[in-house]
Amino acid sequence: MKRMKQSLIRRWVGGTNRDSHLKLNFWITVTLIGYAVTQSKALGGNGDALWWLGVAITCRSTELLISPDVDQANSWGAKRGFIFYRIWWSLFGSFTPHRSRFSHSLLFGLPCRLMWALMPIFLIAFGALQFELLSSDQIQNFLFLIELNNVHMMILVGAIISDFFHLVLDDYGLLEIIFGKLE
Ligand SMILES: [Zn+2]
Repeated sequence: MKRMKQSLIRRWVGGTNRDSHLKLNFWITVTLIGYAVTQSKALGGNGDALWWLGVAITCRSTELLISPDVDQANSWGAKRGFIFYRIWWSLFGSFTPHRSRFSHSLLFGLPCRLMWALMPIFLIAFGALQFELLSSDQIQNFLFLIELNNVHMMILVGAIISDFFHLVLDDYGLLEIIFGKLE
């Protein structure tokens, strides 16, 4: 039954290529925005509309910017996008075979990709500290912004929803979604 459902999704979006992942993700995002609207106080919800809107935006951004297939970013479309972005993720791809658990799993892949995406920011912050362009107070204030609990949770939930449906479309079972495929 589960396999049949998955292949129905796959048939609907047309395979597991970049476009089909973006198409499925688009409709998940639309659903999340719809849910956000129902959470607004005006419609008798508990006022979580903005939070859920953030989840929707994170869900879309995750598939657009740090998709589990991001190791293939170099070959996406007509090689558009920043050269640094493509080099950075090609480097990631050179460490991790495609669909390895370090890109395609909730437990390892998602945190690895998040850390890899944030590393340039931390390197720049570290450099700015070394050359005394920024004070440690300023950097701490910046990190505090990222650490605001609600925002943190919002990003996590959005990214998990995004990855979950990506892996469903890649035909992963529930345990594989969490832990990745056995090599
Ligand atoms: Zn994939």
